[in-house]
Amino acid sequence: MANGVSLQHNKINIAIDGPAGAGKSTIARMVANQLGYVYVDTGAMYRAATLYFVDKGIPPEQSVDMLEALNSLQIVLEPGEERQQVFLNNRNVTDEIRSNAVNNIVSQYSQLEALRTRLVALQQQMATRKGVVMDGRDIGTTVLPDAEVKIYMTASVEERAARRYNEMSDKESITLEQLKQDIQQRDQLDQQREISPLTQAHDAILLDTTSMTIEQVVDAIISYCNRQGMESKA
Ligand code: C5P
Repeated sequence: MANGVSLQHNKINIAIDGPAGAGKSTIARMVANQLGYVYVDTGAMYRAATLYFVDKGIPPEQSVDMLEALNSLQIVLEPGEERQQVFLNNRNVTDEIRSNAVNNIVSQYSQLEALRTRLVALQQQMATRKGVVMDGRDIGTTVLPDAEVKIYMTASVEERAARRYNEMSDKESITLEQLKQDIQQRDQLDQQREISPLTQAHDAILLDTTSMTIEQVVDAIISYCNRQGMESKA
């Protein structure tokens, strides 16, 4: 791919934000693979931090215990065959952080300023050498405000719930309707929180993936990246 070569020589950063279940991780991983870039799933970092605090019995409020525990929190992301592997203080928590228990409380821990400051600094460090595709809620607005490409990816809540439901291995644990309500509640918390709420950056392009296939979304983003990559070089 002629244009792809230029994006490999002149690396850019790509920020993908949007609500839960919009397909950000699947798409971001595929875009990163096509470009030979590093994929960073920031949601996994908030999920791992949530698991850490829950295991320690620390509630989602800024407290002395919470600040102290934060000093010993270590999260490492490593590329894996199918999905990125997540290590919490050297323990592989890749599957555990996707449980319903974590789903239902992660947005409460994500509101904590001290946690966000810590994780944002780590995320910014990961992107200093460029060539990163990072997905989350505040990447285009706060973590990488200078990213050359910013995408705000969304889809109808029905479509997002259906996609999540189809991916689940334990479908008997929750109904589609309950899943839809949980997603709506999480979106609301993420959009209404005080620090770095989920919102479309002014210079992000909106991509509604409701009736698009995965391949169409990936192609649209790669084409856009090629155009932006050319511009940022000019
Ligand atoms: O992307 P994912 O659904 O795994 O994210 C889980 C949660 O982590 C989100 O609902 C949000 O509360 C939090 N999050 C965040 N900022 C990010 C990424 C995720 O607050 N950059």
